[in-house]
Amino acid sequence: MSVESPALRWAETRFVQSVADVRRFPASALPNLAVAGHSNVGKSSLLNALFGRKGLVKTSKSPGCTRLLNLFDVDGQLLVVDLPGYGFARAAKREQATWARLIESYLQGGQAPDLVLVLLDIRHGPKDSDLQLIDWLNVRGIRWLPVATKADKLSGNARAKRLKEMTGAMGGLLAPLPTSSHDGRGIEQLRSAIVGELFPAPGA
Ligand code: GDP
Repeated sequence: MSVESPALRWAETRFVQSVADVRRFPASALPNLAVAGHSNVGKSSLLNALFGRKGLVKTSKSPGCTRLLNLFDVDGQLLVVDLPGYGFARAAKREQATWARLIESYLQGGQAPDLVLVLLDIRHGPKDSDLQLIDWLNVRGIRWLPVATKADKLSGNARAKRLKEMTGAMGGLLAPLPTSSHDGRGIEQLRSAIVGELFPAPGA
């Protein structure tokens, strides 16, 4: 079942700005949705699928891209904060520390997100850095939703088994939503899940 929101139709997304210092985060009354994941998890592809805009979110192949929060406005209703991918294998320790500081100051600041999508590659399950992020979010009482990317890479049985393992590894409460930006599966469900969390129907 798809959740309809009169305001959020995923019709028009525009890039707002990149932010290197959370003190320069623009004031906004819109709900904030942050999107986090390991470098190469498929975050840019998933955001482009969610926005219905090929190429709006640039894929980040270099460790130098670990320093910026990229902000997008959806329909004038939702601010999406694309967090830099973490754990880039070739990134220097210093680079990873910069990432951790940026994310920590964002999560602790006045513009903390209302919801965080935690992206996990369905083939690899949660890594230590994912579990550390989930811990931070739980400690701060920030809502999060696990999203499994690249679901097209596994066949039915293997996919179901892996999703169960992932759920267990993350505390057993939230099952990842399987998605694929290659074949489009799960994208509508993800849109509905976001709307359901951030724009609950009156009386719901
Ligand atoms: P990012 O670094 O997290 O932004 O990841 P990208 O979106 O740049 O994707 C990393 C790699 O994974 C690219 O080679 C993509 O083509 C591939 N990829 C991304 N999403 C999917 C998916 O849903 N299915 C498959 N099979 N490959 C994907």
